[in-house]
Amino acid sequence: MSSILIVGSVAFDTLHLPTGSYPRVLGGAAVYASLAASRFAKSAIVGVAGRDFPSDVIAMLESHGIDARGVEIVDGESFHWEGRYTDDLLHRDTLRTDLNVLASFDPKIPESLRTPKLIMLGNMVPALQLAVLDRTSGPRFVVTDTMNFWIDSQRADLDKVLLRTDLLVINEEEAWQLSGERHIGRVARALLAMGPKGVVVKRGEYGAMLFHEDRVFSAPGFPLDVVIDPTGAGDAFAGGLIGYLSAAGKTDHDTLRNAVIHGSAIASFCVQGVSTQRLENLTKDELESRIRAFDELIRFRHEA
Ligand code: AMP
Repeated sequence: MSSILIVGSVAFDTLHLPTGSYPRVLGGAAVYASLAASRFAKSAIVGVAGRDFPSDVIAMLESHGIDARGVEIVDGESFHWEGRYTDDLLHRDTLRTDLNVLASFDPKIPESLRTPKLIMLGNMVPALQLAVLDRTSGPRFVVTDTMNFWIDSQRADLDKVLLRTDLLVINEEEAWQLSGERHIGRVARALLAMGPKGVVVKRGEYGAMLFHEDRVFSAPGFPLDVVIDPTGAGDAFAGGLIGYLSAAGKTDHDTLRNAVIHGSAIASFCVQGVSTQRLENLTKDELESRIRAFDELIRFRHEA
């Protein structure tokens, strides 16, 4: 039985990148996260797709050891998101969001997945994140993602989710928005006061900071020469992080630090291919060597 439950969008994305346009490629927060988590541990994905969703994608997820029985296929078209990146890949505009079958998504958690040890609540309407928590039981470590849209429009439900969250993983701009603060120390304190026991603030290519138990850990972004497609990097980060926690079998502070590095390593591969391509063909040796490179990147000795 899988100990990680990942709930979120399963999508077709149309991406406009400096290298070209890529219509209807595989995407979705839950897809990126489960592929990343699968590098470390078995995970199960819960989401919804339409009849247009190819069965070979489900087979591909299963070939990575992902339990995809929770991907419900219903009448209608799959969620579709279209975005255009700037030439420097630092910004993107959403051109279209076709919710399609995601509009009536009601997460059905298969019986065998109702007592997971770890849950990733991918970016989705907070009421559904609450439903997932209500439909699962037992002691579990909850990792939550969210976005500007829900912070603006569904704050009351989001507050309830935060009270039941162990680790909030959020990008910096959204952290400013949610906390109403601007400087990172105060941002983190304000977010921790909302309920989560820990917060990871993602800062794009500059890395991520973990605030947990009055301690702070700063992980750099891996200095890449080539970035192809940043889509899904945040989800891959969270997936890698939760996968590492599952493999480690613990969630104490030092393990969380390692998990942040492992999430960063996976995310650094994610951005090096279009869609989920690089997550799909990543080898164990490549991942190992990047984690060693992170060790070299952050090693430091204080000479008194
Ligand atoms: P990220 O780059 O980490 O923000 O994740 C991008 C993924 O999120 C894409 O594959 C999209 O399909 C998916 N996505 C975009 N907008 C939404 C939304 N409103 N709800 C759920 N998933 C979304």
